[in-house]
Amino acid sequence: MICKQICRLMFFLLFTTGWLLGQSPTTAAPHRVVVRAGHLLDVKTGNILTGQSIVIEGDKIVSVSPGGAPPAEAEVIDLSKTTVLPGLIDLHTHVLLNGDITAEDYDKQLLKDSIPYRAILGARNARIALENGFTTIRDLETEGAMYADVDVKKAIANGEVPGPRMQVVTRAMAPTGMYPLLGYSWELKLPTGVQYVDGVEGARKAVREQVMYGADWIKYYSDRAYYFGSDGVLHSMVNFTDDEAKAIVEEAHRLNRKVAAHAIGSDGIAAALRAGVDSIEHGDGLTDALMDEMEKKGTVWVPTVMVGAYVAPGRGGNWVKMVETEKIAFQKALKRHVKIAFGTDAGGSDWRELNEAREFQYYADYGMPPMQAIQTATIHAAEVLGWADRAGTIEPGKWADIVAVSGDPIKDIKELQHVKFVMKAGVVYKNETAAR
Ligand SMILES: [Zn+2]
Repeated sequence: MICKQICRLMFFLLFTTGWLLGQSPTTAAPHRVVVRAGHLLDVKTGNILTGQSIVIEGDKIVSVSPGGAPPAEAEVIDLSKTTVLPGLIDLHTHVLLNGDITAEDYDKQLLKDSIPYRAILGARNARIALENGFTTIRDLETEGAMYADVDVKKAIANGEVPGPRMQVVTRAMAPTGMYPLLGYSWELKLPTGVQYVDGVEGARKAVREQVMYGADWIKYYSDRAYYFGSDGVLHSMVNFTDDEAKAIVEEAHRLNRKVAAHAIGSDGIAAALRAGVDSIEHGDGLTDALMDEMEKKGTVWVPTVMVGAYVAPGRGGNWVKMVETEKIAFQKALKRHVKIAFGTDAGGSDWRELNEAREFQYYADYGMPPMQAIQTATIHAAEVLGWADRAGTIEPGKWADIVAVSGDPIKDIKELQHVKFVMKAGVVYKNETAAR
């Protein structure tokens, strides 16, 4: 025992003497990478810079400057024939879901696939998102897969599987009987797509429980059953009482978590705004008065046009008209100061079929200038996540999250559906630029 202590002391002395003499075991120079960008989208100013060198150390960007010789011993990544932009951010995904056009599509995933199996597909979907250029996602509930999003996030963060950096919602909330699975015999005990939550105290407890198990955000379903009224406005049935919704938001904010509300009809959006949520998801039925309210409160709108348009033909009913209604709302919002941030609802679509970057094309088709569309998925999305100081731009001090495309996405926004290069936190996950 004493010998052991003496040995330890001797080792300590040798070690510290070495350190004092400048022989620290950590003297190796940090690994430096220089990305040479032919064109660089500066999403902060909206300018396109040419011939830039981005110097990266570890997981961070240390400098961005025009041309010049790369520092000695740096690894050079030549993207001089491409357009480089910050890693993209999707604020509304479901990595635990694989297509949700019909109730049957949804129900069979919850009834026939185990949560471990769904988590394996979730990891695959996360990899697809990353390879599509999305280096960060906010995953907006597991659809019955409990807290498996926390596990996918953990496996990615630990470097076990490739995927975007994640903020997760876990289970989401709706009152009893107001979210699938529904319509089965009362004799069966079935899983539910969300956590059923009732009453003010129940709401507070559910928030605490979800935060305890790893929720970065709280999400609740503000409405359901969408219909067009004689006033031409898209209405809906509101799920929670005002007291319940306010309790969810208050408790989440008290625990330093933001709140996203699924709100499609005008009644659901109005209720979510009364409760004080941070983001409105979908928002098809936004009216002028509701946009006024959002501007006043600074509430963010995440439109998720892509999946709305994808599921509409298969769902029929009001869904097709809802896409058209959302387009009109989007065009009105563009003329105002409503904060729009990028979200797709990927997972409502099959991850293997539809690239999330398709959402950009809708924004552009609806009249948003391409640079502004890219800003919704970079600088503005980072702000929504509370990561404005870490992500969303290519600047010193930020995470080295960088993507590149062959053409000019400002001239043709569809370029973003063909990302050739992906780096997340200084690690290259995809490089198809050499094949050009
Ligand atoms: Zn969704």
